[in-house]
Amino acid sequence: MTTDVASHLLPVFARIDLAFERGEGAWLIATNGERYLDFTSGVAVNALGHAHPHLVKALQEQATKLWHMSNLFKSPDGERLAARLCEQSFADYVFFANSGAEAMECAIKITRKHHAAKGHPEHYRIITFEGAFHGRTLATLAATGSAKYLDGFGPPMDGFDQVPLGDLNAVKKAIGPHTAGILIEPVQGEGGVRTAPLAFYKALRELCNEHGLLLVFDEVQTGMGRTGELFAHRWIGVEPDVMSLAKALGGGFPIGACLATADAAAGMTPGTHGSTFGGNPLAVAAANAVLDVMLAPGFFDHARKMSLLLKQKLAAVIDRHPEVISEVRGEGLLIGVKAVVPSTDLIAALRDQKLLTVGAGDNVVRFLPPLIVTETEIGESVQRLDRACAALSSGEHKQAATS
Ligand code: PLP
Repeated sequence: MTTDVASHLLPVFARIDLAFERGEGAWLIATNGERYLDFTSGVAVNALGHAHPHLVKALQEQATKLWHMSNLFKSPDGERLAARLCEQSFADYVFFANSGAEAMECAIKITRKHHAAKGHPEHYRIITFEGAFHGRTLATLAATGSAKYLDGFGPPMDGFDQVPLGDLNAVKKAIGPHTAGILIEPVQGEGGVRTAPLAFYKALRELCNEHGLLLVFDEVQTGMGRTGELFAHRWIGVEPDVMSLAKALGGGFPIGACLATADAAAGMTPGTHGSTFGGNPLAVAAANAVLDVMLAPGFFDHARKMSLLLKQKLAAVIDRHPEVISEVRGEGLLIGVKAVVPSTDLIAALRDQKLLTVGAGDNVVRFLPPLIVTETEIGESVQRLDRACAALSSGEHKQAATS
């Protein structure tokens, strides 16, 4: 017997009263026909916008051939995707999963198993950073380390030591006889678009080399072009031993990946890890199609150009409305606007202007346009921001919200 509830979806999301039926590039069309400029990109997922013709074609073709094939058999398209990802990175091996949290679970397991395989199973602890977000499974929540997500779910999984972001002395102090690795996001997305100085990442690499630890980059949000390069560690100039990807990897089709060097993955033998759906033919077709587009000449030049333009225009809005926003930060098209008013008010005022954005920690509003966003759409978004700021300053938005 069902209870009389308004919705049968588990109420873990505070959903906005707005639904969309289709998308076109950077635009979403609501069920009432209204057009919204989508600077959420499904939280950094739809990097090629909505209904990209090359992705649509790839999925349609794959859908007529094979939807699912277990990992009991060979996967030529999966081999190709893995080889392409390795060619573009430091890695020798790729494990395909279905989400960011699963990619991170694999990264955590690889890190622990590496040491066990080398005869040191007592090296299992991982150093993580305050403000991090690594996912919602019990291990990735423990790595995230935030009380607000952990509360009520029993004792957090043991094995994570959290230190302040950018505090090298704290990292050095946290390294002990049980440490296995250091896990960091190149840019903290959920945490408020926060980055440590580049020298910090280099110092982490050196510490890992010195102590025989694995350096793990969580590129679930930063990877696949979001920060203006295929992977964020490219502009940081530091190669990790292990890296997780998800979000934009499938351009909207669920797929995650964990990449590792052969040395880091020592110990990952048959039976040590697995997934029913991981590397599913549909997901692999989508991800190969995403790579086709992203690896075409000039793709990232465009994303970087749009980033610069958006940042310049946002800085000008700060000059016009310092009472509403105070800072622009981030890399590529992972841009954070620090709000002076509550960020939820700014997001709502932007939504009134038909511009969709995403909240983050530290009272930040994330602007995450698709990487194919045009100059005109950037200009349009900033005009909408200007109007939202004006509405917030005049109190118009509050009145509308409370009436
Ligand atoms: N890691 C990072 C950096 C993320 O931003 C997220 C999600 O926002 C995750 C991991 C978890 O990914 P998923 O929600 O696909 O499990």
